[in-house]
Amino acid sequence: MAPVDVFGRPLSNLRISVTDRCNLRCSYCMPEAEYVWLPRKDILAFEEIAGLVDAFTDVGVERVRLTGGEPLLRRDLARLVSLLAAKPAIRDLALTTNGIELAGQARALADAGLHRITVSLDTLRPERFLALTRRDALAKVLAGIDAASRAGFRSVKLDSVVLRGTNDDELVDLVEFAKRSGAEVRFIEYMDVGGATQWSPEQVVPRSEILATLEKAYGPVHPVLEESSAPAERFLLPDGTVIGVIASTTAPFCASCDRSRLTADGLWYQCLYAPNGLDLRAALRGGASRRELADTITSSWKLRADRGAEDRLRGRVREPLVPLADLKRDPHLEMHTRGG
Ligand code: SAM
Repeated sequence: MAPVDVFGRPLSNLRISVTDRCNLRCSYCMPEAEYVWLPRKDILAFEEIAGLVDAFTDVGVERVRLTGGEPLLRRDLARLVSLLAAKPAIRDLALTTNGIELAGQARALADAGLHRITVSLDTLRPERFLALTRRDALAKVLAGIDAASRAGFRSVKLDSVVLRGTNDDELVDLVEFAKRSGAEVRFIEYMDVGGATQWSPEQVVPRSEILATLEKAYGPVHPVLEESSAPAERFLLPDGTVIGVIASTTAPFCASCDRSRLTADGLWYQCLYAPNGLDLRAALRGGASRRELADTITSSWKLRADRGAEDRLRGRVREPLVPLADLKRDPHLEMHTRGG
């Protein structure tokens, strides 16, 4: 039977980081000049990832998202997609990308069996994109979104982290762009996760303010009523457009969180904020069987009591989660390693 954790939460969602490398340096995720990378020999081969996924699906995982770092930097990613797409237990196979390499890969990913794709897009202004990401690559991202919208995915979503004083004047532009692209935009509150060493509460634009801005432009915004463990709450604009808001900072969704994260080197984290992960690579490379891996996952999940984002919200001092020195000591504490 599928295990539940201490708070009755099932394990249905697995996010797999396929690489810790990224070709952007977003100020809210990778602001530093230098990073400590995972050793190459530790990075799981596609067959190893597929083997671990078998153990996860045995204990209830049915939704898998590939992420990173930037997943499209992993060579021949479509091959991993086809290995995973062949598993009937996976009902939903999705990918999150910054879109830079997407124009050349969208078709191959769709053909390999990827169901859904999310592209991160925080601004439509080239100079702002350069300032925010330290790479002049907006045109490539837009070409990637265009290719994705024609590739035949079940859905294309656009994720925008909203930062006060940086892109909070672009919400309507992003909604309109998403409409033209046939995509659904989701606005994400700036989170104080590992890696976000420049985070401060003043830069967080809360859900209430995001919705107020949209109401001012479009008129009354109504929640879409749906049963879901998804982090995004969805809202309907008067013209029928649906948008999402991920209020991880001001209204965390720990109570329904059914997701966990596997790093590119096989450490399993049960919460984005958790200080430690379980080393499944060691078990796998040590010869553990699928059954033994599933048992290890089950017994660990049953003990899970994480409510990381809620704990952060309750804490009185709101500053970056992990000091820079600690991030340098252990790259697993970084968002780009853990998989956003
Ligand atoms: N490279 C891919 C991408 O850009 O989508 C996947 C990895 S990235 C870490 C996944 C998501 O995490 C992106 O949408 C990014 O905007 C988001 N993210 C990173 N740091 C964040 C933060 N401090 N607060 C909120 N979202 C963040």
